[in-house]
Amino acid sequence: MNPGREIRYIDFHTHHSRGSDDTIAIVNLMAGENVPADFSANTLFSAGIHPWFITEENSLQLLTELVLTAAHPHVVLIGEAGFDRLKGARMEVQYSAFINQAAMAGELNKPMVIHCVRGWEELRRACREVKPDRPWIIHGFRGSGKLAATLDDEGFWFSLGKRGITPEILGVISRERILLETDDTGEPIADVYRHFADKAGCDEETASGIIRNNFNTLFNFRI
Ligand SMILES: [Zn+2]
Repeated sequence: MNPGREIRYIDFHTHHSRGSDDTIAIVNLMAGENVPADFSANTLFSAGIHPWFITEENSLQLLTELVLTAAHPHVVLIGEAGFDRLKGARMEVQYSAFINQAAMAGELNKPMVIHCVRGWEELRRACREVKPDRPWIIHGFRGSGKLAATLDDEGFWFSLGKRGITPEILGVISRERILLETDDTGEPIADVYRHFADKAGCDEETASGIIRNNFNTLFNFRI
């Protein structure tokens, strides 16, 4: 990372944006994609097998490819990986692909970024089975406050986009475990921060400090 200007924004999960002088972006790579030869300063990566793209036939091949990508020092997270009941392979196939990735994350000592659509039981079961040392961060969360509260109790972190930043959700999850993201929206991360500050009832400076702190805690960084 480029320690030049102060980091104002962290886009924790994105498919489109890139790091810049005042922004760290974690760009998501799908298994089979390599870390690009050239990338801008303050750009980090996550790499994983998205549940949409797993089949019974390809899952071992994807895992082999992922081992290579995940070893890159700028890949700081494994994922997005997880469960989707509406799209992708049978849940058993998704489950074993997830457990394999969680084992890899454990060996590499990296946190995971989680995609989960109606697969909360599977996610919890996996968490009980794996007992991860590093946090699992649910990205794009926009479930109910009740679900958010339970997941928060269980130790999950949250990466929220605009639609997940609601008073109901902010009211129940721990401030110390929130990150912000643009995902595939293409919107500026500054807008997501503004929205967060507004709903959390703080100024933008404070919002920026909260997220930066959380990011530092997660990775043991000092930015
Ligand atoms: Zn995504």
